[in-house]
Amino acid sequence: MPRHEFSLPVKRELAMRAAHFCSNPQCLRLTAGPRSGHERGLGTGHAAHICAAAEGGPRYDPNQSEVQRRSAANGLWLCRECGDMVDKDHAGFTAQQLHDWKRDHEALIVEVRQRGWASSIELLRSGQMAPSLARDIVALVEDRRAFWARFDAEFPDRVRISLDGLRHDLSRLRRDCAPGSPLDTVIVALAKTIRHFFDLVEPFDLTTLRCDGGDPEWLAFEAALRALRKSVGYQIAELAASYSIPLQGEFAEQIPK
Ligand SMILES: [Zn+2]
Repeated sequence: MPRHEFSLPVKRELAMRAAHFCSNPQCLRLTAGPRSGHERGLGTGHAAHICAAAEGGPRYDPNQSEVQRRSAANGLWLCRECGDMVDKDHAGFTAQQLHDWKRDHEALIVEVRQRGWASSIELLRSGQMAPSLARDIVALVEDRRAFWARFDAEFPDRVRISLDGLRHDLSRLRRDCAPGSPLDTVIVALAKTIRHFFDLVEPFDLTTLRCDGGDPEWLAFEAALRALRKSVGYQIAELAASYSIPLQGEFAEQIPK
């Protein structure tokens, strides 16, 4: 069975679409540069098949035609190391995962092209850090019992201290996000939700407030906390879904369905 390799023009297109960066979000190595001497360039990139070029290869799809198999739509640009990794069957990358890398990388390059050099570097870096940052954000919220403990077990002042800590931790994570990047937007929205909660409970003395169904201040506190949980729950659920992060423990049970 013949291998359906990419033609040179298809390889060039793939390299260009990726701006010669490796499309693996964890890598992003630049695959082109100058060779020593004055004239020639050095290329270390690799046009990888998403579905294998021949039967028996990784992610081989028997339903593809030869034209589809050789087309740019079936390829993505990687550095040599990542190309090797992806071409090894046992590495277990799925076609969907590689399509996602390619789509996200090309979207990143479009954005990088529209910005200046300094913010481009920042954007590349934050794109590379995004999956672990997203996990950090989810873990920060999951950790706080203010989002899942029973209302009657809550001391309002402890809730305040915990949310204050969360605000502080979120602004620390924000330093690793490029301004306006998706995760930056997520953190800003979370911080805004928490600030809104503080505005609502501001008139109350939280150090003395206790669970009491007959106390209008307690009821207002409870309503504000319920609204906060719901809003943060939605935001975190959406973030977790878009980065395929499984939600854990008691927090996960509180997520609005
Ligand atoms: Zn790479």
